[in-house]
Amino acid sequence: MTAATPTPRAPLMPLDDALARLLEHVRLIEGTQTVSTFDADGRVLARDLVSPLQVPPQDNSSMDGYAVRVAEVANEGAMLPVSQRIPAGSAAQPLAEGTAARIFTGAPVPQGADAIVMQEDTQATEDGRVTILRVPEPGQWIRRSGEDVRKGSVVLAAGDRMTPASMGLAASIGCGRVEVVRRPRVALFSTGDELAMPGEVAPADMKPGAIYNSNRFFLRALLVRLGCEVGDMGIVPDQRDATIAALTKAARNCDLILTSGGVSVGEEDHIKPAVQSLGTLDLWQIAMKPGKPFAYGRVNNTHFIGLPGNPVSSLVTFVLLVRPFLLKLQGATNIAMRPIQLPAHFELRRGDKRREFLRARRNAEGGVELFPNQSSGVLTSAVWADGLVDNPPGRTIARGDMVSFLPLAEMLG
Ligand code: AMP
Ligand code: MG
Repeated sequence: MTAATPTPRAPLMPLDDALARLLEHVRLIEGTQTVSTFDADGRVLARDLVSPLQVPPQDNSSMDGYAVRVAEVANEGAMLPVSQRIPAGSAAQPLAEGTAARIFTGAPVPQGADAIVMQEDTQATEDGRVTILRVPEPGQWIRRSGEDVRKGSVVLAAGDRMTPASMGLAASIGCGRVEVVRRPRVALFSTGDELAMPGEVAPADMKPGAIYNSNRFFLRALLVRLGCEVGDMGIVPDQRDATIAALTKAARNCDLILTSGGVSVGEEDHIKPAVQSLGTLDLWQIAMKPGKPFAYGRVNNTHFIGLPGNPVSSLVTFVLLVRPFLLKLQGATNIAMRPIQLPAHFELRRGDKRREFLRARRNAEGGVELFPNQSSGVLTSAVWADGLVDNPPGRTIARGDMVSFLPLAEMLG
């Protein structure tokens, strides 16, 4: 008998490959919903928004002052009678020749006027005339019709994610309601017999070995921020049957089942066999730190994603993999991370074998600092951080080297 050859360890999968493979499985979910523009923040537009009008609708003044014809005030000190008064929201008469019109910010520029003189550059007389103290440039202080939005143009496109600014823009073209992709339904559960719920078990009553379930809190919040409807199934014990039951229930009406923990390959990790007994599962060892174990599979038509249990690994794999997945599910077009290059105000003497996402924070000097403890269990690092330094495998970093920084604010919603 020959000695059994050990099965060679599969090489770790590069993160970019894992992301590409994950995104290959995603199709836009069916179904749209028409919501009030007030409620559209964070939602993905299902249709282009085409403007039925010009914004601003007509040429208007960007100053309080006087509307004039430049040719009539070519010399400093010209004096003109004031022929009309145009507050914002009123209609203007054509500007009578040889006169000026009193005008206010946002008011329509009268036909014939070709500049606004701000009131600080004028002197009004008691008997209704005004002296122009400074010769205006043609077009001065006039906001042109359509300079913001042209009639017929696409102001926001299908696939754009609404922001407060885009809600304002939609409102500016008269959209009180917008059609958005429906919310993805996500079933969330945590695995682990060691987990206890804050509020249910007091710190003094924690059993030996017990820890509080922290993943459930940030995963749920992240899902909500990404526009999902969360079916929170709580904690599922480390048992095959319980895991199968939870998965079966979750698969009934969800687009995605998201779990944390139980995707390593210890015998207490029941996710893999449970998902495999109901559908298919790939367990990926991703060449990233924190992170590494990550599972993608399917139960019927429902996607399954299993995140690692360590809180920081769970958080980082969520933002780097699940976030783009959920955005693509909703048809969002802009899902790429946008790193910025910043100088390191720290040293890293030994780069990890895996691509590492270091919890980091920008300082007032424009550099990046690292949290001292980069362990994947230390959630304090993620709270302290405002971003992740994306460090390639094996790269050492000297103070002043430029590093790739991913702002968390952008990725947490
Ligand atoms: P696992 O992936 O299940 O092997 O878990 C890896 C580590 O993460 C263990 O130390 C677990 O106790 C911890 N862990 C798993 N799930 C959670 C959770 N929901 N909240 C906090 N820690 C967790
Ligand atoms: Mg576990």
